[in-house]
Amino acid sequence: MNEPVRILIHGASGRMGQSLLRLGAARQGCSIVAAVSARSPTQRVVEGVPYFSASELSGVPEFDVAIDFSLPEGFDAILALCASRGTGFVSGTTGLSEAQRTDLQAAAVRIPVLWAANFSLGVAVLEELVERAASALRGWDCDIVEAHHTQKKDAPSGTALALGIAAERGGAQPRYASLRAGDIVGEHTVQFTATGERIELIHRASNRDIFARGALHAAVGLVGRPAGQYRLRDLL
Ligand code: NAD
Repeated sequence: MNEPVRILIHGASGRMGQSLLRLGAARQGCSIVAAVSARSPTQRVVEGVPYFSASELSGVPEFDVAIDFSLPEGFDAILALCASRGTGFVSGTTGLSEAQRTDLQAAAVRIPVLWAANFSLGVAVLEELVERAASALRGWDCDIVEAHHTQKKDAPSGTALALGIAAERGGAQPRYASLRAGDIVGEHTVQFTATGERIELIHRASNRDIFARGALHAAVGLVGRPAGQYRLRDLL
């Protein structure tokens, strides 16, 4: 029988981290070997998983792949650790700088990496629909409206920007609007408008588990692959 894939969760105390820990523990073929958050943990071991603070990152046990859903300020350290240890790197952290994107590309020369603005299958399909609609509706207005919970730091969301890139590939020039309200998990509307008619393509996420499942699936799929930058659709 194959050894389970050893996974480190970075951003473990967060909304996504909690979902990843719960689903990762229940998933066959993988084992969560470390959980890292910004601050020192109140408990050192929770349900068999050792917890670490960001300042203790260099001391985490061996792992095969890290899943990072933290914040841009935590991204550099976990990417550097994966590159130095030669492990896989999966990240859904949004709001990255240009320099961080360049570092990700550079790391892909040494290790397999996958960054995605959105780990849901529905949004992967939505991107394709948006590109098709944009190329068929030349000259129409294209507006991307996104809504998220009030704790979200970046705007427009990484998913809105990824949908915008899909629209641009189809020839549209998208504009963005962001709404922060209550506990909305994530809603994205891509609206194409002409005189007298309008098309709306909408994705609504009601549960973070969809992103966590996609990230766990990607992490397991990345292990054993050659260095390079992978897309979610390569592994789904
Ligand atoms: P959150 O604020 O609930 O959690 C953030 C986590 O990151 C916490 O555990 C915090 O301790 C940790 N952290 C912060 N700074 C750190 C540092 N310097 N070093 C190490 N850890 C640090 O956030 P969330 O809602 O769980 O979202 C996390 C990220 O994932 C955000 O960037 C969000 O936009 C993104 N996200 C992406 C997807 C996707 O599918 N790609 C889906 C949901 C959220």
